[in-house]
Amino acid sequence: MEAEFCPAAESGSGMVLDPALLLAPSRRTFLHAAGLLMAGRMIPQARAQLSGPSGAGSGHRVIVVVIGGVRRDETFSPEGQANIPHLTVDLLPKSLFYHHARNEGVTAHFNAISSILTGNWQRVDDWGKLAPTTPTLFEQYRKGLRADRSDTWVVASNKALTSLIGASSDTNYGPAYGANVVFPKQLMLQAVVDALRGGRTANMADRGKIEAELESAMEGSNYEGLGWNVFDAADKLDPRVRDTIQTAIANFVRSGGPTSGDELTFFMAREVMRKFSPRLLVVALSDVEAAHFGAYSLHVSGIRTADRLAFELWQEVEANPDYKGKTTMIVLPEFGRDPDGSSTNGFFNHRANVDSTRDTWMMTLGAAVDKPDIIERPIHHIDLCPTLAELLGCQPLEAQGARLKEFRI
Ligand SMILES: [Zn+2]
Repeated sequence: MEAEFCPAAESGSGMVLDPALLLAPSRRTFLHAAGLLMAGRMIPQARAQLSGPSGAGSGHRVIVVVIGGVRRDETFSPEGQANIPHLTVDLLPKSLFYHHARNEGVTAHFNAISSILTGNWQRVDDWGKLAPTTPTLFEQYRKGLRADRSDTWVVASNKALTSLIGASSDTNYGPAYGANVVFPKQLMLQAVVDALRGGRTANMADRGKIEAELESAMEGSNYEGLGWNVFDAADKLDPRVRDTIQTAIANFVRSGGPTSGDELTFFMAREVMRKFSPRLLVVALSDVEAAHFGAYSLHVSGIRTADRLAFELWQEVEANPDYKGKTTMIVLPEFGRDPDGSSTNGFFNHRANVDSTRDTWMMTLGAAVDKPDIIERPIHHIDLCPTLAELLGCQPLEAQGARLKEFRI
């Protein structure tokens, strides 16, 4: 089954862990009610106590948005541009747009994102069981500039990622210099599914018990089991982080209920920006991976969602005084997908060694854009890390990738 090939696969754009459990209208009602319960208790608690930004480095901020596998056919092509109105109409005119950003490495999610984040083609386990072998941008930034962990974040809906995306296995760097890594969807789904399996769904009479269960599921000791992890020397969750996460999830549910994993990831990323103002934020969207189930319409709907959320993230940059005028935001797919008529089922997958899978694009917005331009010269995904390292003001490490000369540093 294709879903087994790609651990990022989702059965549609809904926030679905077990479709049988959650798709029925009564389950959705429950989910909404559960969210309201969470919101009522948790919103008043959220007060992030921050020591403020570390002040290290150039002061430049970087946001990288990766959106899973999308082909040029469905995006930056004459027939595809209708799927990405915000990228093509609102953002392209102000961007430095690389028409050909190539993935010449492994076209699987964990390796692709690891390569983008390290500047070297990574060939580790596709399922995220092994960390990248060379230092990530997070580690380079944090070690080089003595930056706090709260300055570097990954917020992801992609199930092919694990917390190992936040730091490499390099013994001179590693988790001590890694990023906060958050998978908000798994956290919320698990809390709700645990409550459902607890047999308390027949009616809402026992609200207190459900509430208690949801709260206990979100207690510190359970975080790792819920599919995400925050690195910490004491292996305990920073209360600032916990409050922010809980509040963001509660607000998200209260504001209309679950729609898609990427919506929640966006919501959480924006919350992290507002509460922690990190210098380096990576947002991994994956609604487009509905393609693995052969659902073309859901795949395209995922592209439209990514287009809109990337735009909304940019609007947040423009509206947030911590970010406005000093932020560079990058938007790029991890790779394309297989061509129609291929032996690997076309858009379902991303494993063919052809341009449809390897040749994609990259958009740069903000402070590093000297003048908007479309660059036809092919670049490589591994060129991004050394370029961003320099933007952030750290000493670039030896890497396979080369700095992109069009960026204004
Ligand atoms: Zn995939």
